[in-house]
Amino acid sequence: MVLIEYPEYLRHRQWMNHALELAQTAGDAGEVPVGAAIADVNGNLIAEGENRKERDKDPTAHAEIIAIRSAAKTLQSWRLHECTLYVTLEPCPMCAGAIVQARLGMLVYGVDDTKTGAIRTVINIPDSSASNHRLRVVGGILESSCRQQLQAWFATKRHQKTNGQR
Ligand SMILES: [Zn+2]
Repeated sequence: MVLIEYPEYLRHRQWMNHALELAQTAGDAGEVPVGAAIADVNGNLIAEGENRKERDKDPTAHAEIIAIRSAAKTLQSWRLHECTLYVTLEPCPMCAGAIVQARLGMLVYGVDDTKTGAIRTVINIPDSSASNHRLRVVGGILESSCRQQLQAWFATKRHQKTNGQR
């Protein structure tokens, strides 16, 4: 358990809300709804991303990867050690790897991913011996909103399938 100060908690909620909006845009476009935002050392938004896997036909087009690429471009540096990444769903192994590669200072995510969560739920990449970087992790910010968004999306998807729509 990580103790966080109240103003910091409010900022986490603010950017997680933004990530939820981005996730909704992806969901409305037929993608699994995952959204990500990156704030700089002053807490200002510098990058955002939403899942674009289907639209881009790109298996690496996860929200986190898109946001990390954009932040590195903005800062003109691949080192994001003073930045915080907000993402609605616990990152997968690919994104956890990118988070370590980018030396991100902090990760804040919404809901655990029981299938591919690579921060703590299925495996723990940042704390593994394959990682040369330690980062602060806060999970569970706006957790129920993040979970409900995903559950609603999958429920609609199942409903469409049983009705012969895709
Ligand atoms: Zn991922």
